[in-house]
Amino acid sequence: MARFRCIKCGEPPDGFLFESDLPACPRCYASGPLHIVQLVDVHFVVMDAKGPIQGAQGRQYVACQRKREYLLLHTMDTFGAATDDPSVVTCRSCRGTKEWQAAASLDPSIALREAQQERLRKIMASDCCG
Ligand SMILES: [Zn+2]
Ligand SMILES: [Zn+2]
Repeated sequence: MARFRCIKCGEPPDGFLFESDLPACPRCYASGPLHIVQLVDVHFVVMDAKGPIQGAQGRQYVACQRKREYLLLHTMDTFGAATDDPSVVTCRSCRGTKEWQAAASLDPSIALREAQQERLRKIMASDCCG
C-alpha cells in the first residue's frame, strides 16, 4: 500500500489524497505521473536542546522517533524526509504526537485542510458502497 496525491480531481496544491497499491485515482481514474504523485512520509522535527540530532539550527529530534540519531542517511532518499513545518508533515505517528498537535494548533489552515480531505474521503466511501 502506498499513498498518492491526485492533482487532477483535487483542489491544488493539495490534490486528492488516496491510498492504493496502484498509482491510479479511485475518484477520477486518472493515472500516470502527470496527475498522480506518490507521497513519501514527511516526519515532524522538534527543536530541543536535548535532542539526539545535531541540525543546522541546533539540536532536534523526530517527533515519532525520539531516539533516532539521524534524519536522513541520503538526502535524496525517497524513504522519508523531515521538516519543522507542521502543515507538510504526513507521517501518521508524528501527527499523533502532542508536539505536532501543539504546532498544528497554531496554524488554522491545517485543520481546514484536514476537514477538506475528510469530506472527500466520505464522498468516496459513499460512492463505492452506496
Ligand atoms: Zn483524481
Ligand atoms: Zn514520523
